[in-house]
Amino acid sequence: MTDHDKKEHCGVFGIYGHREAAKITYLGLYALQHRGEESAGIAVSDGKQIHLHKGMGLVGEVFNEENMERLPGRIAIGHTRYSTTGSSLPKNAQPLVVNYSRGTMALAHNGNLVNVSRLHDELEAYGSIFQTTTDSEIVLHMMARPQCTSREQALSETVKLLEGAYSFVFLTENQLMGVRDPLGFRPLCLGKLNKAYVLASETCALDLIHAKFIREVEPGEIIIIDEKGIRSIFPMGKSIRRAYCIFEHVYFSRPDSRVFGENVQVVREKLGRRLAIEHPAQADLVIPIPDSGNAAALGYSHQSEIPFAHGLIRNHYIGRTFIQPSQEIRDLNVKVKFNPLKDVIKGKRLVVVDDSIVRGTTCRNRVRSLREAGAKEIHMRISCPPIRHPCFYGIDFPTRRELIAQTHTIEEIRKFVEVDTLGYLSLEGMLSCVAASQEYCTACYSGEYRTKVPSEGDKYSLERTHGEGGVAEKA
Ligand code: SF4
Repeated sequence: MTDHDKKEHCGVFGIYGHREAAKITYLGLYALQHRGEESAGIAVSDGKQIHLHKGMGLVGEVFNEENMERLPGRIAIGHTRYSTTGSSLPKNAQPLVVNYSRGTMALAHNGNLVNVSRLHDELEAYGSIFQTTTDSEIVLHMMARPQCTSREQALSETVKLLEGAYSFVFLTENQLMGVRDPLGFRPLCLGKLNKAYVLASETCALDLIHAKFIREVEPGEIIIIDEKGIRSIFPMGKSIRRAYCIFEHVYFSRPDSRVFGENVQVVREKLGRRLAIEHPAQADLVIPIPDSGNAAALGYSHQSEIPFAHGLIRNHYIGRTFIQPSQEIRDLNVKVKFNPLKDVIKGKRLVVVDDSIVRGTTCRNRVRSLREAGAKEIHMRISCPPIRHPCFYGIDFPTRRELIAQTHTIEEIRKFVEVDTLGYLSLEGMLSCVAASQEYCTACYSGEYRTKVPSEGDKYSLERTHGEGGVAEKA
């Protein structure tokens, strides 16, 4: 899968009790860049007020020495974003910061709320005026309601009303808080850097700053870190139901991260091994679609004993040229992103491993360029089942109609992408590669959603019905 098919969602980071909180957050965001490339931001508290800098672009583009100097303080949160709800607009960049009767607070969100439409209408009926078109802003409005006596209580009451996927980090003048939804769709971990506490979407962010991993934030848990230390509450009680996003292992998370208790690279290699058992091929080489297919291709190669090779070279430096994901730009993107290694693949029978096929057009373009480079046969292998259903929990798949597996049989897809054979990993096969298989969400493959979900729309639907100030509900 590539940028053409879908985008990353978001990465969040937080730190409490470090004299260079903003700089550490900046480094943490570098490690989470893969989770969102559209915008980045850091909010930091100096104990009295919250300072903010955010903008469109990659972390390295948004921040420089000068604006980092204007972020003093010992508590910070940060965010890398791709728009899973709301348009890709500067006003939607996070963290979101609000001033209200009890002071100032900032929020960074990874995930997607499924009941935003109702919450939005209720809040608007009581006079809320929205500044952004993100679902995250709703949470701040709910937190600011006057009947709560403390922020802790406000947060506890707010999360009881939210449905869907969320891993939040909150910043107040003197607190850092982290929250994970009761089903645990998105990862969030807790670490320690000397005396400072750290929260991050993925453990690779802890590694980069040399923080020690303590544990994952539990589903349904709120962690509060302030001058009294660290404490945790479960406002909805401890839930035993889980819905970890299996796609974090298949594609999203970085291979050097541990998510949901397992290393991503190890899981991906298992997916590749299982794929080789389910869909063997007579071939000379196994090549990945880089980078997301690398680990599964390695697993396939080990299991099948067909040599592994790099047959496509990825250009890593084109990302920011194409900010607007329009169809025309996507097509260009496809052509400039990978270059086939002719000397490696010419005259060879190839097993090509990728993590998914979404619309099919990207895959077909890759196949065509491999053929032009002289590949004799192409056996496409996909390290997860066909994606047939939309994700309501923060992954930006296209609508149902655009998903090729929704409208085509596997044989039709094979013909469409112009390969000699096509094999998808089975649902059982995929789940056999993770330890707690019953705890995973697989809704985009199976259609079995673990929460109520909105009817089909798209992520801009509320912008259309409520105008630009509305909050979008994603399909
Ligand atoms: S629907 Fe798919 S992508 Fe979305 S949370 Fe579930 S497994 Fe992950």
